[in-house]
Amino acid sequence: MSYKTNLIRKREIADGTMAFYFSKPEGFEFRPGQTIDLTLIDPQETDTKGNTRTLSIASAPYETELIVATRLRGSVFKTTLHDMSNGTIVEIDGPFGNFTLHKDTNKPAVFLIGGIGITPVRSMIAQALHDQSNYDLILIQANRKFIDIPFVEDFAQLAQDNPNFKYIETLTAFTPDDWNSERGRIDEAMVKRYVTNINSPIYYLSGPEDMVKAMRNLLITMDVDEDSIRSEEFPGY
Ligand SMILES: Cc1cc2nc3c(=O)[nH]c(=O)nc-3n(C[C@H](O)[C@H](O)[C@H](O)COP(=O)(O)OP(=O)(O)OC[C@H]3O[C@@H](n4cnc5c(N)ncnc54)[C@H](O)[C@@H]3O)c2cc1C
Repeated sequence: MSYKTNLIRKREIADGTMAFYFSKPEGFEFRPGQTIDLTLIDPQETDTKGNTRTLSIASAPYETELIVATRLRGSVFKTTLHDMSNGTIVEIDGPFGNFTLHKDTNKPAVFLIGGIGITPVRSMIAQALHDQSNYDLILIQANRKFIDIPFVEDFAQLAQDNPNFKYIETLTAFTPDDWNSERGRIDEAMVKRYVTNINSPIYYLSGPEDMVKAMRNLLITMDVDEDSIRSEEFPGY
């Protein structure tokens, strides 16, 4: 389905990373973790990659606005999106995709996430906690530096309010002296510090292609059943 919607506001959620808040079109329904194709209408400039990008919906269905977020990498599409004034109309197509939470709430969900791959996960976790579902949710979010962590305040608040949600940040490039979470890339020892029985959860991997591949290989070397791994790769990072 195709819809028109308008930009309500935008907000920097991490260094060089912007969230865009759109009105939710009448009749638009989606499951947490799904994506839209966002198309700029008659932009002043365009390039060979065109005016459309696939973006995950970062907001949860219960929230009133439709949020997407992206690292601004200088493409014409993203520069135009960044410069867009409030009220600008865009087209969205969707929702698409099956990167959604499993149904059995007795199985924990473990999210091993890199960078901007956090977008669909914000939607999944926010909705599950809003619904007061019984899932044990564990998020390990990897970024280079603290200022690179998208939605850090949202997750910190959710973790404070919900004992069934554990939030762990790991920094791979620079950690301040007073940093009291994890350091370095996600590895076997780190996963085992938070996941007691590694064969009970469903694992969700999302982020740049190389990161997702590395996480899948890690889980496979840890003898996690491949059927328990779901992933979303973001090309172009
Ligand atoms: C299922 C799915 C969900 C996704 N969800 C999201 C999301 O929530 N948020 C998000 O940001 N992205 C998401 N993506 C990726 C998104 O669709 C784009 O591919 C990505 O953001 C890159 O777009 P771009 O406009 O920056 O680069 P594009 O113009 O599309 O170019 C991609 C490639 O061109 C090159 N390139 C572009 N710009 C530069 C530059 N300045 N310097 C050097 N090389 C460059 C790079 O090689 C890059 O890999 C998702 C993709 C999929 C398939």
